Order: sequence, then structure tokens, then C-alpha cells
Amino acid sequence: MLTAKRDIMKNVPNPETYTCVCGRQAQLTDKNITTKFKDQTIVVNNVPSYECSSGHVKLSRLTRVNIKKLLKTAYENGLNSINYK
Ligand SMILES: [Zn+2]
Repeated sequence: MLTAKRDIMKNVPNPETYTCVCGRQAQLTDKNITTKFKDQTIVVNNVPSYECSSGHVKLSRLTRVNIKKLLKTAYENGLNSINYK
């Protein structure tokens, strides 16, 4: 399991829906997420996110891990936006 971690992260799909904390079904959708890495604001484009009809946005743990890596890459290259896919 551990040795194949990289491949698992690439291949595990996000489920199509997710039950939000408010109890509504959140649909998987691609969103542009604006966030901060250290002192820099960085936009991550086309992030697979769950958004319910109340506007709550949730990212899977896998997605968060991937974003963290992308933010680091963007920061090191002086980019203020980066594509998730
Ligand atoms: Zn909600």
C-alpha cells in the first residue's frame, strides 16, 4: 500500500456526490480556489470541489494534499495561478 502511494493518489477518483455538514447533497464540480501560501495569494484553477445548494464548499483530503503540492510549486516559481489538472 505505502509503496504505491503516488499511484493511488493519482487513480482514486472523487465520488460524484458528498453529504455536506448541513445534510444536503454536494455535487462534484470544478472550481477555481483562491488561497494563500505564505505571503502570496495563489489561484488554483479547476479544482474538484463539492458544493452544496447552500454554498458550502468542501475539498477531499486527497485534493487538499494535491493543492498543497501545487501551491508550493507555484510559490517557488513565482506564479499567482496554477492549474490543478
Ligand atoms: Zn452545506
